[in-house]
Amino acid sequence: MSDRILIVEDEREIAELLAAYVEKAGFEVVRAGTVQDAIRAHSQSNPALVLLDIGLPGGDGIDVLTAIRRRVDTPVIMITAHDDEITKLSSLRIGADDYIVKPFSPSEVVERIRAVLRRTHGSTSRRTLSVGPLRIELDARLVQCQAADGDAFVSLSLTPSEFGILAHMARHPRRAFSRAELLEAASPDSEAYDRVVDSHLSKLRQKLAAAGCTDMIEPVRGLGYRLWSQC
Ligand code: CA
Repeated sequence: MSDRILIVEDEREIAELLAAYVEKAGFEVVRAGTVQDAIRAHSQSNPALVLLDIGLPGGDGIDVLTAIRRRVDTPVIMITAHDDEITKLSSLRIGADDYIVKPFSPSEVVERIRAVLRRTHGSTSRRTLSVGPLRIELDARLVQCQAADGDAFVSLSLTPSEFGILAHMARHPRRAFSRAELLEAASPDSEAYDRVVDSHLSKLRQKLAAAGCTDMIEPVRGLGYRLWSQC
């Protein structure tokens, strides 16, 4: 199966040119032209890499990159019309893997895609969520916690329900979740009572604290819980 590349570019001619070259190089192409489309296409198509134009309608490429990085570590190559250091530095700092300045040759773009995929090989299929000191590898169902900067990661042993809840919350840090929603994440077919969630959350918080990740989950009065990252 060929790797899927998400091309986010609002200028149709450039998007079509890029798509033609990337497809010719043997990749599958998904396209988006706005910030909203890009975020949706990323979560629906789970691409191996994203080519991301910075100047977009409805925001900019940095918004898309930030939204992607909240969820996973898909490699991203930024495309910018401005060859200025600030753009380069800020996009690399928030987690872009490379950048290309317009005008570019499409064959150079394909080379960069191959280079980034080679460099990140293995990590593309390992979907990872990072929230503060917490790291969750979705496919491996592995949860690790880094107690302090530079410390080694400590693995947590979670039940399937606890893992489901934590992974669900980690996709949207800071968002407040209702008990009903967390129950659905814990066991989609269960008809258990909402208060079961409190028991799961209580154990989850104990396990996180024991691994050094204290105060990661906080109750939201009258609703449920949120995963809170101080970072
Ligand atoms: Ca543009």
